[in-house]
Amino acid sequence: MTDLQSHHNLLERYQAVKNQVQELADNHGHRVQLLAVSKRHSTESIEQLHKAGQKAFGENYVQEGVEKAQALSHLEIEWHFIGPIQSNKSRQVAEHFHWVHTIDREKIAKRLNDQRPEHLNNLNVLIQVNISEQDSKSGIHLSEVNTLAEAISQLPNLTLRGLMCIPAPLDDTQLEHEFTAMRKTYEELKQNHPSVDTLSMGMSQDLELAIKCGSNMVRIGTAIFGARH
Ligand SMILES: *Cc1c(COP(=O)(O)O)cnc(C)c1O
Repeated sequence: MTDLQSHHNLLERYQAVKNQVQELADNHGHRVQLLAVSKRHSTESIEQLHKAGQKAFGENYVQEGVEKAQALSHLEIEWHFIGPIQSNKSRQVAEHFHWVHTIDREKIAKRLNDQRPEHLNNLNVLIQVNISEQDSKSGIHLSEVNTLAEAISQLPNLTLRGLMCIPAPLDDTQLEHEFTAMRKTYEELKQNHPSVDTLSMGMSQDLELAIKCGSNMVRIGTAIFGARH
């Protein structure tokens, strides 16, 4: 494939995903933000999508994300960190990202708060819920959300925006059950924390069900960029 062809394919896939998300959002009567997950994809692809109107990009690996943010600092991009955070990498996350989707302990929240540079706006954070209760996965139990939310709301350089989850591979019935439980906790959280407005759930495989269950931010990689290298 020539560069020109792959460029067209990228933009076509992007438009198709954007249209699909818009249509689902319209059907369900709420807004849905599209986060383009660009991990393991080139800065050139990000630049092309940015030119086509995409402003928010998600990265999983600190080093890769920081390098891309620096290489593309001339563009107005909103960078979302969506991977696991190790303590020794939190400073780079606090300095280079606008959002973090994967807060699952107070210690990390405090580090990000302390390390957020003064000249930047608050870091927007989501609490990651281990909705399928997988041993191998990051995230907290739904019953622990209120306590962690309370702790985050005391940190002046962070703004609590909501919840995020990465479900296990499940059949649609089970998945709908888990998405619905997320939605319920999200609605309750909103009552106590007026800054909460984001429910980040749904990826390439399950965006339709996620939006049906109330997601207002979907994180899409493969359906836009194709397979990762
Ligand atoms: C990679 C990744 C995505 C995107 O997954 P696709 O299946 O490629 O759409 C979304 N969220 C998180 C947390 C990811 O790590």
